[in-house]
Amino acid sequence: MTVAVIGGGWAGLAAAVTLAEQRIPVTLFESAPQLGGRARRVTIDGLNLDNGQHILIGAYRETLRLLHQVGINIDDACFAPPLTLQVEPGFRLQAASLPAPWHLALGLLRAQGISLREKLSAVRFLSALKRRQFHVDPELSVAALLAQHDQSAKLNDYLWHPLCLAALNTPPDQASAQVFINVLRDAFFARRDDSRLLLPQSDLGALFPDAAAVYLGAHGAKVCYNRRIQGIEIQEENYVLQHAQGTEVFSQVICAVPPFRIAQLFGQMPVMQPLVAQLAAWRYQPIYTVYLQYAEDVRLPFPMLGLSKTLSQWVFDRRLTQQPGLLAVVISAQGAHESLSHDALVAQVRAELKQALNISTTPSWTQVIAEKRATFSCTPNLQRPQNQTLLPGLYLAGDYTASDYPATLEAATRSGVASARLALQHLSERPDTRI
Ligand SMILES: Cc1cc2nc3c(=O)[nH]c(=O)nc-3n(C[C@H](O)[C@H](O)[C@H](O)COP(=O)(O)OP(=O)(O)OC[C@H]3O[C@@H](n4cnc5c(N)ncnc54)[C@H](O)[C@@H]3O)c2cc1C
Repeated sequence: MTVAVIGGGWAGLAAAVTLAEQRIPVTLFESAPQLGGRARRVTIDGLNLDNGQHILIGAYRETLRLLHQVGINIDDACFAPPLTLQVEPGFRLQAASLPAPWHLALGLLRAQGISLREKLSAVRFLSALKRRQFHVDPELSVAALLAQHDQSAKLNDYLWHPLCLAALNTPPDQASAQVFINVLRDAFFARRDDSRLLLPQSDLGALFPDAAAVYLGAHGAKVCYNRRIQGIEIQEENYVLQHAQGTEVFSQVICAVPPFRIAQLFGQMPVMQPLVAQLAAWRYQPIYTVYLQYAEDVRLPFPMLGLSKTLSQWVFDRRLTQQPGLLAVVISAQGAHESLSHDALVAQVRAELKQALNISTTPSWTQVIAEKRATFSCTPNLQRPQNQTLLPGLYLAGDYTASDYPATLEAATRSGVASARLALQHLSERPDTRI
């Protein structure tokens, strides 16, 4: 009845928490010295940063439920304004106090920085998606979808492209229109609160992994840090996990490593070769976060501001995390920034902040964190693997598994919970176990 979870990112944590809640003996193996994976705390010179600035939205139901389960009060943990998008120079959109989707429709009609014609065209685009029940040709890219609906260059620059990059981390001409629409559907068309921005007021470790670790400890689960699983073997009906300290046997395994680590784990298992081959063809996209520490009185007019026609895409005021004067500049997906040295990138970002926001002082320190494989490229018709593998008792969890969401915290937590439920079901079906 023992279950192993390999990988302590948000997917693995979601799986382990779901199993521990049912008092199933679970051991979580994490290769790093800390939990969180691609959404983790990074401590540099005693200062807590994140490996990348993250935002959540109100539609992240499973993630918010899990935060609550491990004792996080979301109202304390996040600054949660109604949907507000400010993209310099001059675009402002704030959702109205109306039920969805009218909150967005009126917000668009009241938006600053675009013409009446553009506002009506954006509303018509969203109505057309709804009429088509949010289904489009799976081969279509976001850029092609926007062109079909005559969205202007300004609408694309200020609204649709920033949303596409933020949600799918894939350039619009390569990104899946269907997955983009799924996000629009869930954020804008069900409840008004679903489109709320949730901006963490702590580092990412404190947002979920720390509390999850405490929850796991309190529910009898074991967490092993610095414990990389090097291989898996099948032994009768069980799985043998190999690590540097020896081997351990489990009746079921949830593999919650990122897709680019799957081949290392399953390279020796013939039955898993179709999965290994499928993932070998995948491409990945980077996310860069540039931290700049200015004087404490430097502040943004709103904690999250977009910039248009610049390398810098979003600027966050880390006053959010009680770090006044600290700005985090996010650059999603591939682009010219990848060929710059970190010093040249910082210089470029500083020039853009000066030009767009009139921040002209010299930062006391800067730090670039480049996550080269932040997410998979969310391209049209990408076939993603199911949580259940061909082997009974062996499951996959992670933001890359089958989901109508792009690689996000919500895709990760949903997959973790789904794989844990499969493990629970498997246990309840075994004649020798009762849960
Ligand atoms: C910079 C950046 C910004 C992002 N911004 C957002 C955002 O704003 N909103 C949003 O929703 N999403 C965002 N994302 C995406 C989000 O962080 C990921 O989708 C999510 O964290 C993936 O979680 P996961 O558990 O599936 O995978 P991972 O986080 O990759 O977890 C896998 C874990 O497995 C461990 N591991 C690997 N191999 C082994 C092994 N052999 N043995 C043991 N352990 C192993 C790894 O160390 C890791 O901890 C961002 C990602 C990045 C990188």
